[in-house]
Amino acid sequence: MRVEFLGTGGFHPSEQRHTACLMLPELGLIFDAGTSAFRVEKHVETASLDLFLSHAHLDHICGLTYLITLPLLGKVEQIRLHARTEILNAVKTQLFSEQVFPVPPPFEFCEIQDKGELQLPSGQQLEWMKLNSHPGGSTAFKVHLEEGVFAYVTDTTVDGSYTEFIRGAETLVHECYFPDSKSDWANQTGHTHSTALATLAKDAQVGRLIIVHTDPQDKSGDPIGIDEMRAIFPNTIIAEDKTSLELNK
Ligand SMILES: [Zn+2]
Ligand SMILES: [Zn+2]
Repeated sequence: MRVEFLGTGGFHPSEQRHTACLMLPELGLIFDAGTSAFRVEKHVETASLDLFLSHAHLDHICGLTYLITLPLLGKVEQIRLHARTEILNAVKTQLFSEQVFPVPPPFEFCEIQDKGELQLPSGQQLEWMKLNSHPGGSTAFKVHLEEGVFAYVTDTTVDGSYTEFIRGAETLVHECYFPDSKSDWANQTGHTHSTALATLAKDAQVGRLIIVHTDPQDKSGDPIGIDEMRAIFPNTIIAEDKTSLELNK
């Protein structure tokens, strides 16, 4: 099973990273649609796409406007957009208001509850739960694959509410916007800082930790202090845009 890291930054695009979008092409499964969503087209392998939004902040949804060409030009038959009711309403009435974008969204809108699961067209089971520590709330997802559980968690502080949800996941893709030196900012803005995340990965006994949604304003090349994280949880990497990862059994 292949995972495409199309966009691995938070907030705004930088020279190195576009904002959030993650794709499992064989499943037609996409998480979030930030500025990197223009890269989806190249990886389409299925007749329809299921796109799940963690929340409706701009760095996770603005790329929805780029995806309209896929169904309109027949590159896919359908895009189902799944999110909690208030998220879908924000997308419909704000992002796709006539004043902001000229074309009505050609998506099938699918409301999800705060907690639930569904079977993807490819047969795999997807589960989600609402997280409350980011302004407006966000949603964590996990999909059960032959290669183990694949979890995607952004934007949130490490608040203990979803430790059991991710426990034992083979792969945890998680935001880490701040280094420990800015942990007060992480708590104020509802984001994650380095050692809190590494400790979570260790406590939840995940197989590996892949970091996304880093701070685009940090130009140091090591926005979160990777060595300190690896001292707590060695199997940690920072994803880069256009990384293709093969999950093995
Ligand atoms: Zn974000
Ligand atoms: Zn956010």
